[in-house]
Amino acid sequence: MQLGQDTELDEVRRRVRDLAAKHAPPRHPRTGVRAPEAHEIPALRKWTGLLFSEQLLGVHWPVEYGGLENPHPLFESAVTDELIRAGGAGPVGGGLLAAAAIIASGTKEQKDHFLPRIRSGEHIWCQLFSEPDAGSDLASLRTKARRSGDDFVVNGQKVWTTNGQYADWGYLLARTDNDAPKHAGITAFALDMTTPGVSVRPLREITGTADFNEVFFDEVRIPASRVIGEVNQGWAVTTASLALERSSAGSGASLFGALDRLARLANEVTVDGRPAIERDDVRQTIGGFVADVHVNSLVSALGDSRALHGTGDLGDAPVSKILFSEINLALHEYGLDLQGHDGVRIEGDSQVRDQGWWQDAFLYARAFTIAGGTNEVLRNLIAERALGLPR
Ligand SMILES: Cc1cc2nc3c(=O)[nH]c(=O)nc-3n(C[C@H](O)[C@H](O)[C@H](O)COP(=O)(O)OP(=O)(O)OC[C@H]3O[C@@H](n4cnc5c(N)ncnc54)[C@H](O)[C@@H]3O)c2cc1C
Repeated sequence: MQLGQDTELDEVRRRVRDLAAKHAPPRHPRTGVRAPEAHEIPALRKWTGLLFSEQLLGVHWPVEYGGLENPHPLFESAVTDELIRAGGAGPVGGGLLAAAAIIASGTKEQKDHFLPRIRSGEHIWCQLFSEPDAGSDLASLRTKARRSGDDFVVNGQKVWTTNGQYADWGYLLARTDNDAPKHAGITAFALDMTTPGVSVRPLREITGTADFNEVFFDEVRIPASRVIGEVNQGWAVTTASLALERSSAGSGASLFGALDRLARLANEVTVDGRPAIERDDVRQTIGGFVADVHVNSLVSALGDSRALHGTGDLGDAPVSKILFSEINLALHEYGLDLQGHDGVRIEGDSQVRDQGWWQDAFLYARAFTIAGGTNEVLRNLIAERALGLPR
């Protein structure tokens, strides 16, 4: 066996590269999952539809909804990796996360309605989970949904909603039973984001971009037919999508591109009048990053291999995610250090390097230590659930 190599997956990767080279819409180069500009949305819907129609996404869905018979278990993680390597031209929105919940827990009517529209790119989804006082401890969420005839009526607030400003639909968690233990009184809904009473306010981050939003609900009516799964069983519904989010967070494919950039940078910038790359300390530091990135890639491949053979444990995905996000942070901090005083230039400055990519990546790198479970919480999870240490 050759870790990380597989002819079936190599072919999948080649198809993604070819398709991205021909059809991926051009975007400003940035790291991470970034909100598009409004004018980019039509092209991104089309691109999302193309990824599905070329059977590169949704391959693990039931065959009647466009999935493949017996796809390779790592098919979609290979696709995600290649899309990241191709510059982050992924599908727009959280449709894959919502689809995981609808497939696992939705009614036939919901599957027939939503899955084709996610596949075509007609519906962009956002995930309405986190609240100002409910992030790591998501089950303490306080947005309420009360029954009123054939509807539920929602009041409350969400935060950090990626793509909320463009989403057609929201995958919402709300509390439907105040008296039940906190994990037991939550219900999952599909919310039409154009419903009266929904307001979305973009949040501008330290990067200067507005990738997240606050979303407010004021007497928002959702038909009871849009409950995903059973009332008060929303916690079980989210398990399907949260597992997907965590497992896709740490593959580290973007780090290889970052290493290339770092090597280029070290050749271009000068320290004490000499190209930085000629200094021993610079070469040693970059060599250290090369080793770290390869270790991360191998740890991620090992986790995949263990999952394939049923020998993995709950620590595998968190270990990869922590490794990736901390190497990513250190590498981009070093990239700015190497630029000396020029490191403080920002996007829009005529002398900033790579259109401000380094500054943006340095600031955004913090997001990877939070998204998909913060590194602190994931360390707890490794200690308690994988190693069996006391709480
Ligand atoms: C890029 C990105 C995209 C996101 N997209 C979405 C989205 O689309 N929809 C959505 O609903 N949310 C989204 N989020 C929010 C994300 O899920 C939360 O940020 C995350 O769950 C952490 O919650 P919090 O921000 O409230 O931090 P808190 O949970 O308040 O944590 C604050 C600090 O306390 C630490 N901490 C908390 N509990 C413990 C503990 N038990 N032990 C040790 N330390 C602890 C944390 O590690 C952290 O450092 C996104 C976040 C990011 C960064």
